[in-house]
Amino acid sequence: MKPFSYVNPANERDAVRALGTDRDKVMPLAGGQDLLARLKDYVAQPDRVVNVKTALDATVTPMPGGGLKIGAAMKLVDLAEHAQVAKLYPAISRAAIEVGTPQIRNQGTVGGNLNQRPRCWYFRNEEFVCFKKGGNQCFSPTGENQFHAIFGNGPSFIVHPSSLAVPAVAYGATFRLAGPNGERMVAAADYFTMPTLKNVETENVLAPNELLTHVILPAPGGVRSGHYEVRFKESHDWPIAFATVLLTMSGQTVRGARVVMGAVAPVPWRSEAAEAALVGKPINEETAAAAAAAALRDARPLSQNAYKIQVAKTAVKRAILNAAGIATV
Ligand SMILES: Cc1cc2nc3c(=O)[nH]c(=O)nc-3n(C[C@H](O)[C@H](O)[C@H](O)COP(=O)(O)OP(=O)(O)OC[C@H]3O[C@@H](n4cnc5c(N)ncnc54)[C@H](O)[C@@H]3O)c2cc1C
Repeated sequence: MKPFSYVNPANERDAVRALGTDRDKVMPLAGGQDLLARLKDYVAQPDRVVNVKTALDATVTPMPGGGLKIGAAMKLVDLAEHAQVAKLYPAISRAAIEVGTPQIRNQGTVGGNLNQRPRCWYFRNEEFVCFKKGGNQCFSPTGENQFHAIFGNGPSFIVHPSSLAVPAVAYGATFRLAGPNGERMVAAADYFTMPTLKNVETENVLAPNELLTHVILPAPGGVRSGHYEVRFKESHDWPIAFATVLLTMSGQTVRGARVVMGAVAPVPWRSEAAEAALVGKPINEETAAAAAAAALRDARPLSQNAYKIQVAKTAVKRAILNAAGIATV
């Protein structure tokens, strides 16, 4: 890999100071699961790397109104095993548990997971100068697109790689960002950005001189949640499609629903059609399947990924049943 200088700041303020305004030249390093691989593959070639793993908060703090604040440097394993997180936000726990392998969860952090770059094989190969690397095309529409987006219609067809991003959006999380002018709060749903020709090189609104420092989850109220991931096989790979579903019940009837899918679009993909299909209904196999069908109605697959429609339908249906406490196979 290309040589770079290494900064080891003691705290959040010094970490922010060590960043710069060119995101290609200075990069934060947390667990390194994603960044080190990109450095070794010459996909990223920064001049300076800033270690944020020991500078940022790695704890979970209760919030006055009943929510929780999760530090970006928290390891995925600690998140997965946190009793209060599991009790209040089971879909966050589930997503963390399902990431990779024990080794990956021991190394990867919350901030790194939410900010990891796409897994697209064209992006990860230094030979392909795609939109995301300053080029003028996305190679997937006419290339190998088995794992690419079925929603969003480009111009880049990556799927967002973060498993935590989906339940974070579903629960209405807020991200705290720290920059040279202090902090700012951004709703998780507004953090991840759909690609346009202007912003296609990034996946979110984070400025080069900012860090994501905390994920703030609002009090869950009486909401019930389900999370279901479908993988190619029971391996450590990223899911092909997955979903987080939140249900607010009035007796046996759904009063409110939130349906968010992952690995189907460049951002966590909320389906208001699926939510509308659930409201006013009881949850059973039939209503869950109808909502799942509504969630995928507007999918536009590429040449090799139409199979993802059925996979995503299954994920949504099972997440709904899961949220209602109905066992799935
Ligand atoms: C085999 C395998 C399977 C995997 N399966 C899954 C899966 O199923 N689901 C899933 O979600 N992930 C999966 N991963 C990815 C893994 O979870 C992430 O790579 C890991 O969480 C990244 O965390 P990190 O701390 O190591 O990040 P790093 O590699 O240190 O950083 C990742 C990116 O985020 C930036 N960054 C880091 N911290 C911050 C911060 N606080 N603020 C702003 N930017 C920051 C870095 O600059 C870098 O660009 C898998 C990885 C492997 C190798």
